[in-house]
Amino acid sequence: MTEEKLARIRREFERLQGREKAAHQAVESLRNKLQLISQCQITVEQEGVPTLSELADIGIRTTTTVGLHYKILGQRRQVEASILGYEAEIKNIEAKKASLMVCPECSGKGSVNESKTYERLQEGAIIPVVSMSECALCKGSGRLSLSH
Ligand SMILES: [Zn+2]
Repeated sequence: MTEEKLARIRREFERLQGREKAAHQAVESLRNKLQLISQCQITVEQEGVPTLSELADIGIRTTTTVGLHYKILGQRRQVEASILGYEAEIKNIEAKKASLMVCPECSGKGSVNESKTYERLQEGAIIPVVSMSECALCKGSGRLSLSH
């Protein structure tokens, strides 16, 4: 395992962390938007009309109240679909991060085969003897410490 390869894994991990953070922020702001959409829905259900700025906040630019209920519903579906998309992306990123953290030197076992020698038993059989030693890269944990 070269330093260069390790640095590449670290860079990839940091890139994923950045994307994960952005996705979390996007979900948070979409959830806020969902809240605003709910408020507009309640207003409309109570035969009221949301203000233009309330509508602008949820992405609706309109001068008419005709079909407003459906427009708001459409926005809600769009926002909910976006949230699902980001949540799937976050899951995907988490899986990629987990696989990057598996120590490539020992494949996550925490130990490496040091040497293989052959021993002859008294009965004459020859058996292989493998000595294991703690993986130097992950110090036996099987995982790279990439997050700090
Ligand atoms: Zn290891």
